[in-house]
Amino acid sequence: MEKYDYSELGLKAGLEIHQQLDSKEKLFCRCPTLIRDLGDSDFEFFRYLRATESEMGEKDRAAVEQTKIRRKYIYKAYDTTCLIENDEEPPRELNKEALEISLGVAKLFRMKPVDQLHVMRKIVVDGSNTSGFQRTAFLASNGVIETSEGPCGIDSLCVEEEAAQKIEEIGDSIVYSLDRLGIPLVEIATAPDIKSPRHAREVAEQIGMILRSTGKVKRGLGTIRQDVNISIAQGARVEIKGVQALDLIEDIVRREVERQLNLLFIRQELLERGAFVCEEIYDATGLFMDTKSKVLQKGVKKGAILAALLRKFNGLVGKEVQPGRRLGTEFSDRAKTAGVGGLFHTDELPNYGITEKEVQALRDAIGAGPEDAVIMVADEPEKSRLAIEAVILRAKEVLEGIPEETRRALPDGNTAYMRPLPGAARMYPETDVPQIEISQEYFDSIETPELLTERAKRFATEYGLNRELSEKVAYSKHLPLFESLLESYRKDANVNATLIARTLVGIVPELRRSGVDTENLSDEHFRGLFAAISNQEIAKEAVQDLLTALAKEPNLSTQEAISQLGLSAFDPAEIETFIKNLVRERGDFIIEKGPAALGPLMGIVMQEYRGTVDGKILSQMLKTEIDNFITQG
Ligand SMILES: [Zn+2]
Repeated sequence: MEKYDYSELGLKAGLEIHQQLDSKEKLFCRCPTLIRDLGDSDFEFFRYLRATESEMGEKDRAAVEQTKIRRKYIYKAYDTTCLIENDEEPPRELNKEALEISLGVAKLFRMKPVDQLHVMRKIVVDGSNTSGFQRTAFLASNGVIETSEGPCGIDSLCVEEEAAQKIEEIGDSIVYSLDRLGIPLVEIATAPDIKSPRHAREVAEQIGMILRSTGKVKRGLGTIRQDVNISIAQGARVEIKGVQALDLIEDIVRREVERQLNLLFIRQELLERGAFVCEEIYDATGLFMDTKSKVLQKGVKKGAILAALLRKFNGLVGKEVQPGRRLGTEFSDRAKTAGVGGLFHTDELPNYGITEKEVQALRDAIGAGPEDAVIMVADEPEKSRLAIEAVILRAKEVLEGIPEETRRALPDGNTAYMRPLPGAARMYPETDVPQIEISQEYFDSIETPELLTERAKRFATEYGLNRELSEKVAYSKHLPLFESLLESYRKDANVNATLIARTLVGIVPELRRSGVDTENLSDEHFRGLFAAISNQEIAKEAVQDLLTALAKEPNLSTQEAISQLGLSAFDPAEIETFIKNLVRERGDFIIEKGPAALGPLMGIVMQEYRGTVDGKILSQMLKTEIDNFITQG
């Protein structure tokens, strides 16, 4: 049961999904789309970036805010990094493979492509692009998917270059890795047709399924990211960035609605009290010269403890807006944009070694009554000033309503402030890349991938897989291997589709749950496994043991693991009997040839056991038997 009636609240939600494409090369250079080990990085360089004026002549407000702090950006480069990724050479033309994967996606969403593809520059000032902008091209519009709650529009599809991966922050420096920069991705934006948290998840799942149907998208953590746009009737539009897990989408929507409702409740209460925010910034450094509080001692040393007075806010700064996050946390998020670690507010004091007496002295010094709240930040003078100004601004917004902003998804389903919503001045044309004509003929020539849902149905009817197994295998990352194995064992007596599917999507996950490192298993391991079952070298019952052994020692071939484990379905006693009988039957030949009989007889033995038992072992067994025959003979 949902806590709220979302249609009554006027919930409007849309998704923006970013999916990396599995093309061989990057979008604007020929470098591979490989994710590298940080340890492989062989050089680094750095840049300072500032907001640049776009050709529209105005500065983007999100860009301006981010460059309040001067940051140094350090880039880790690899032997696969070229001068285009370093922004020292102009981009090449847009990758055709990526374009065609994207057109296939557009077809699946029943979208209309543009006649001409124009590449644009989107300003990015967080350093995640060496150039200070991201290249993006609007490819198609006007699509739709069917859902359990009616159609959901797919408004736009853009082809974009992926940003560099943020590795760490050291003081005011940020370290990025360039392996991910420039990997092609599609950005898909739905219409605001989403009606509830559960519906948001359904839409995200369906879009994900459609993308994977191409068989040409990257898989694994970080290869797909969802942004959620949410508003309610009395609230404001908020864009939540970077939801990585599908499971989180429902909570994100639920908790954002909750946050907006709580902020509206706080606003109402403040208006009834006649609350307001004082513009003045108070220097409280002198009050804490002898404080025992470690954090404030540090503040005094750094230079400035500044305070803001929020009239009649007492008790509401500490009020929860999301589980574990208070109005004070929203203030703190804003303060952090100035580079401070956080803030103190009177609703949570005394605490942090700050005494009751000190709090009272602070209140007295700035003229705060018991119904007022005081906010403090302690850092270098300039940072403290910017931080307390940001808090004052946010506090004023509380009285106006919900601020429109970009927020960051947190792992527990909450969100934190990231930056203002970007303005319209973010894009301008990329003149280094030629436009591409997309004729109807070209669009028609792009193959429409078979949907995974359709493929699952086909596995069930064509190969007799049960429904659960066919869906699991169709959605699994092992799908390409499954299809290739199906092809190899189309008419095999010992290996069928159910065995292959059960192994890949039943046994492997079971082993993983019991602690086996199944990520080590390669396609070659699986191919070896099914070959061994096909020629009856091992029994089906040996699959678990064999895969466990291979996961532990991935350098072994399947054959080597079979020998080491003694898994061979052949009984040595049976082989011995076969050899004994052979030697007895060919007794005359052996007497005539002596030890030289080994060669020809070995041929017969190998015919029987080739590829299943090690030839050296067979040769040794046969030699022993011949020697015995001759000496006893
Ligand atoms: Zn490159």
